[in-house]
Amino acid sequence: KQTQRLDKFLTATTELTRSLAKKALHRGEVLVNGEVVKDPGMQIGADDQVVWREAQLEDVGLRYLLLNKPLGYECTRRSSHHPLVVDLLDLPRKNLIQPVGRLDLDTSGLLLLTDDGQWLHKITSPKHHKEKVYLAELAEPLVADAAARLAEGLMLDGDDKPTRPAFLETMSATCVRLTVTEGRYHLVRRLFAALGNHVVSLHREAVADIQLNIEELPAGQWRYLTEEEVSRAV
Ligand code: URA
Repeated sequence: KQTQRLDKFLTATTELTRSLAKKALHRGEVLVNGEVVKDPGMQIGADDQVVWREAQLEDVGLRYLLLNKPLGYECTRRSSHHPLVVDLLDLPRKNLIQPVGRLDLDTSGLLLLTDDGQWLHKITSPKHHKEKVYLAELAEPLVADAAARLAEGLMLDGDDKPTRPAFLETMSATCVRLTVTEGRYHLVRRLFAALGNHVVSLHREAVADIQLNIEELPAGQWRYLTEEEVSRAV
């Protein structure tokens, strides 16, 4: 790994912001290889030992996580009413970790999270049409031409263009799997509403070729993505 500025290293490995990192340096709180260093621009390499307030800091690099989101958790950063998905992460510096897209409060399943802004952008950008796979339980059996209408694209209330083709698999009269390649607000619920139906429960199984295995990862649990998954997704 290459070198990086000491102030950048501190913001990457602690909760400090850039300006608080500079203050900590100025106060002489930071040791590099046993010596007090005050220069925020000092270059830190892999072999340097950085200590702040008696803790040795490790730059773990960028993090890529897969969470099985439970029902009743919010994907936002702040909420007065509901617990947050980031609260399920027992990790340092979790303020840097963001959900890749959103799942509704009452949707469960695969949620990717990362502190790599570029990777997040590649997956969520409307240009890239990454596939998302949902299991939906419906209130009523679907109309006969549902698969064809979803494949064709539907005009949803309030939107200015039809939806991109969605692929429907029928598991039973009221249980379906739907693959979409957009990230519109409440897309799956609105698609089935447009077909005169109602989504009773919604669970995400996959995003961008990354699958959730609910036997290995029960609701509320998370794991790191493998390197292969990280590169496969983008
Ligand atoms: N579509 C929805 O309606 N809700 C979600 O949480 C995800 C996709």
